[in-house]
Amino acid sequence: MHNLRSILLLILLTTLGAFAQQPFLDAHQWTTLRDESNGAAPYENLRYLTTLHRVPATADFEQAAQFILQRAREYGLSDAHSEQFPIDGTKQYGLMRSYLGWTVEEARLWEIKPQHLLLGDWKTDPIHLADYSHSADVETELVDIGNGASEADYSGKEVRGKIVLADGVLARVQELAVRQHGAAGIVSDMPNQTTAWSGLDTTIVRWGHLDARVPSGFAFMVSRGTAEALRSRIRDGEHILLNAHVKATVGPSHWTVVSATIPGADSSSGEIIYSCHLDHERPGANDNGSGCVTILESARVLARLINSGRLPRPVRTLRFIWGPEVEGTMAFLATHPEIKQRLRANIHMDMVGGDPFKNKSVFHVTSTPWSLPSFVTDVGAAFLDTIRTAASGYAAGELTVDSGIVETRAGGNGTRNELIADVTPYSSGSDHDDFDSSTIAVPSLYLRDWPDIYIHTDHDTLEQIDATKLRRIALLGAASGYVYASVTVPQLPALLPFFAAQAEARMAQAFTGAQNLIENPQLEVGIAWYEAHNLIDQTLQREIGTLNSIVNFTGAPASSDSAQVKFHANQASDFQSWIDAQAHARGANGKSPTAPWSDSKEAKRVPSRVGEFGPLTYQNDNVLLARLGKEQYAKIKLINSEATQMLNVRDQSELYAYEIVNFVNGKRSVGEIRDAVSAEYGPLPIGLVADYLDACVAAGVMEWK
Ligand SMILES: [Zn+2]
Repeated sequence: MHNLRSILLLILLTTLGAFAQQPFLDAHQWTTLRDESNGAAPYENLRYLTTLHRVPATADFEQAAQFILQRAREYGLSDAHSEQFPIDGTKQYGLMRSYLGWTVEEARLWEIKPQHLLLGDWKTDPIHLADYSHSADVETELVDIGNGASEADYSGKEVRGKIVLADGVLARVQELAVRQHGAAGIVSDMPNQTTAWSGLDTTIVRWGHLDARVPSGFAFMVSRGTAEALRSRIRDGEHILLNAHVKATVGPSHWTVVSATIPGADSSSGEIIYSCHLDHERPGANDNGSGCVTILESARVLARLINSGRLPRPVRTLRFIWGPEVEGTMAFLATHPEIKQRLRANIHMDMVGGDPFKNKSVFHVTSTPWSLPSFVTDVGAAFLDTIRTAASGYAAGELTVDSGIVETRAGGNGTRNELIADVTPYSSGSDHDDFDSSTIAVPSLYLRDWPDIYIHTDHDTLEQIDATKLRRIALLGAASGYVYASVTVPQLPALLPFFAAQAEARMAQAFTGAQNLIENPQLEVGIAWYEAHNLIDQTLQREIGTLNSIVNFTGAPASSDSAQVKFHANQASDFQSWIDAQAHARGANGKSPTAPWSDSKEAKRVPSRVGEFGPLTYQNDNVLLARLGKEQYAKIKLINSEATQMLNVRDQSELYAYEIVNFVNGKRSVGEIRDAVSAEYGPLPIGLVADYLDACVAAGVMEWK
């Protein structure tokens, strides 16, 4: 009985596995891509990258770039080359101000009294030296200042000429301890990038980086265990004498970006761009050696199959870039407006190889923000589903190695794991923020592991990486990019019903959200009614945008999706009438709800963007902060902590700010922008939106029409 069931299941799963990738690829194309994709090749490439301390604009970063360039040539990619973009701390790329380079010759930290201990050496463990540390040669006492990021930590302490021990935000400690109080340097165990597991393993050394624009100071990073031991000895009255020696310079340099292509059949039909980020401290296996070697593997698979004629050459060109996070992307786009203009879709990989049973990660296909609805997410989600189903079938013993897309072929070292994965709303924090922003507007399929308990630490090693997962994500990337590059008008009759069905499911989800709003006892009924209506309206606009995106992408007549659009409009109008009934049952009056901002004059104003392109925050640059200055910046209500308390949200203000800017198109009023971001992230007072846009106008990046 059991055997018969297994055989039946096997037949069922094999059939599903072969056809679940419809309507995008036929079964032959899918298995061709699947069988060519490899997990061992990216794993071995990653082994090399993890030996390099890949801080941007340093010698090790250059070496990593050379390695990628060599591989791109070996893999048969076209136009493989590297470019250098000058940086000096002032030169602009789009809206972004460039940063600085850093050269280190040597750095060591010793405790010389009462014990004789080596606390960190650049030669063997570069992670111990915080990025952008300056030269120093000091022998002095260690002073415990607690967190060190607020003025109160310094009262009654003499730190001048001393080394401070602190776990506060490093650049802030640099400003207070070094710049204002004259300390020589810092020993830090700042917990950057926290997760639920942070602090459990006290042997982990986390990275730190100083503000390169501050002309002095150094910091050595130590584990929490080491720092706690030092603190307890100081508490017990010990005088700990340290010797710090750093030979390093910060100054003008260049960013290097490697790029290569697989030319499309029609050079006028646009390009698909794959990105990752090649920088980060050693070892940086998952963040982000994994993304770099995985787009490289997607490139190898596609180049091999297309150049040999085993897959038809797609109409659009496939481009691949490897550079410093965000900064390399912005420099590349600013220097190549002709390429920027040709870009139609992006696939961005940042942390894609973690073994979830080691680093606790879930793999996410991340949707584009609501300001840029796009079919690209649904394509990635469909392939994810195919691969996840295959992985589960293999893990349950029902599928073969090939069908399960594992990397144990020829003794390969991949796991037999399931693919623990989902599709999430937009989340910020990597180069996709730039592609997705409204003045670049290249929809991004953002692939990422989150959380990762070893992110930005010396434990982010090859040990945490699964070759099977690298193979699966390389396949996901190759298949999605191949579809973006080849989709054309004749496929629309099969594709539009698929996308409409996905949209229908999301509309239904939005209805649940609207019901939660209308029944929320904390909201006055008129407000609840308006917000519930708004959620359904905005979701409808988003889904119409998703349908329009595939029509526009293929160049078909704009009316091609009118049947699907009508279908969703009807769906939305039914939902609205159900919401109306619930509102009336709660005591609401009238036929339809009124906007909470309907009486506000400032809500009717229409902002538009001026000047250079890009979002308003980058790795090392914040446009509003730079242009308005600290004092005025701190007064922006959306950003300051008072507003955050008022909204009862954490870390949401950054997302609101990003989307407020993205929704500015010279047509939407402040009120309409408020409604758009309120549907996406929750109702927001109009005053916060108006105040943020006023700050953008004051900074000269927007004007009132
Ligand atoms: Zn990253």
